[in-house]
Amino acid sequence: MATEQTFIMIKPDGVQRQLVGEIIGRFERRGYSLVGMKMVHASKEHIEKHYEDLAGKPFYPGLCNYMSSGPVVAMIWQGKDVVKQGRALLGATNPLASAPGTIRGDFAIDVGRNICHGSDAVDSAKKEIALWFGAQDGAISYKRAIDQWIYE
Ligand code: UDP
Ligand code: MG
Repeated sequence: MATEQTFIMIKPDGVQRQLVGEIIGRFERRGYSLVGMKMVHASKEHIEKHYEDLAGKPFYPGLCNYMSSGPVVAMIWQGKDVVKQGRALLGATNPLASAPGTIRGDFAIDVGRNICHGSDAVDSAKKEIALWFGAQDGAISYKRAIDQWIYE
């Protein structure tokens, strides 16, 4: 079974706008497995670490304030090609450039309120999962009866 994992996070605006079920539902309906999930009100330091590659960008302070302003839903999703496909489900960084049918293209307008995060590569997914869920036992391993109807 495909074991690639990605880190998907519903941002504070996604939680406030009551889009948690909608976003989870899109990953579920596509066929991916939810193998880790928790709600966290992250500290600014934690968010600064999550976005450390962007430190120095003009939007970085505002981004860290926004992301630590309320609870987020942190998740690990698993399945074949899930990192790349997860980004495709999210849409482009700027919602105005996101196609309708994507999460950002359907529910967001401003880049600084784009409601969800997804890892951009397998390596960054591993780092982000370790940061949010701990280095060990981040994900729960379990069998899904439906997998034989999703994977050939
Ligand atoms: N962001 C922003 N202004 C910008 C670019 C990015 O506020 O001009 C925010 C936006 O919320 C984005 C996050 O910073 O999701 C991380 O940026 P990145 O380039 O990693 O985009 P992503 O991987 O989230 O699509
Ligand atoms: Mg990114």
